[in-house]
Amino acid sequence: MKRSFPAALLSLAVLTSASAVTAKDIRVLIADGPQKAHKFLETTPVLIEILESQPNFTVTHTRSTAEACKDGSYKPNFADFDVVVMNEGFAAPEWPKETQKAFEEFMAKGGGMVSIHAANNCWPDWEEYNKMTGIGGWGGRNEKSGPYLYIDHEGEIIRDTSPGKGGAHGPRHEFEIKVREPEHPIMKGLPLVFKHGPDELYDKLRGPAENVTILATAFSSEEYKGTGRHEPALMTISYGEGRVFHTILGHHTEQIREGSFITTFLRGTEWAATGDVSIPVPEGFPNQEIAPK
Ligand code: ZN
Repeated sequence: MKRSFPAALLSLAVLTSASAVTAKDIRVLIADGPQKAHKFLETTPVLIEILESQPNFTVTHTRSTAEACKDGSYKPNFADFDVVVMNEGFAAPEWPKETQKAFEEFMAKGGGMVSIHAANNCWPDWEEYNKMTGIGGWGGRNEKSGPYLYIDHEGEIIRDTSPGKGGAHGPRHEFEIKVREPEHPIMKGLPLVFKHGPDELYDKLRGPAENVTILATAFSSEEYKGTGRHEPALMTISYGEGRVFHTILGHHTEQIREGSFITTFLRGTEWAATGDVSIPVPEGFPNQEIAPK
C-alpha cells in the first residue's frame, strides 16, 4: 500500500507542548555537501523544517563544498553544538584532516551525531568516521571494512566476516520496521512493528560494527532483490563518550516526510544530543496527522 503525504509536516510543536517545559535546549548543526545519488539541496531544507518543529531545537546549517574541503577552510566549530546531523552522502569530498580530527575529538568527548541514509555511504577511508556509523555501504566497502551485521531468524545478531561487497538495495517498496530494543529511550512507546516506505531498504552493510545497538530491523525480502534477512534499520553506536543515532531510512523528501521517519529522527536526534528522549510518540504514529504548511 502506498501512502502519500502532502508536502507539509506534522505540527509537532503542539504535541510536544507538555514536555517542552522540561526539554533541554538543543543546538543542532546539520552538515551536507556535494554528493552523488542523493539530492541534498532538496532534503536538507526538509530536515531543517522537521528539526525546527521542536521549540527547544536551534538549527545551524553548514555545507562542505569541494573547494573548502580542498583548501582546508571548511572548519565548523563543533564545540558550539550538541549534535551534528549528517546529510552527507556517496562520494562526498573528504573533509580536511584537521576538521576530521576536530570532529573525532568532539565525538570522543561526548558529542552527538545522527547518520541519515546515505551518510553511511561516504568516506570509506576515514577510519574513525566508520567507527561512528558502525556499518556502511558502497564506496568499495567489502570484508576488509568489517563484518556484515544482521539478525537471523532466531533473533541472534550475526557478524558475518565472509567475503562480499558492503551495501546494496533493491527497488523501493513499503516494508515493516521491527523494534528490537523496546525499552531504549528512542524506541519506548513505539508500536513493536510499524510500516515505512516506499523507501530503499539498505542491506549487506559492513563496517567496524563495534559498540552498535540494533534498535530495529527491516526484513529484506528476496521478492525485492533483498537478502532474506533482518537488516539493521535503526541503530545507536557509542564512540568514546559520544552517542550516534543511525537510520538507514530517508532516501528523498517523500521518505523524510513520512511519520515513521519524522518521529524516529527527532527522538534519535534528541537522544544523540542529550542521552534521553522527551519527544512523545504522536497519536496515530506512523500515520500521524500532517498539518498544512
Ligand atoms: Zn538512497
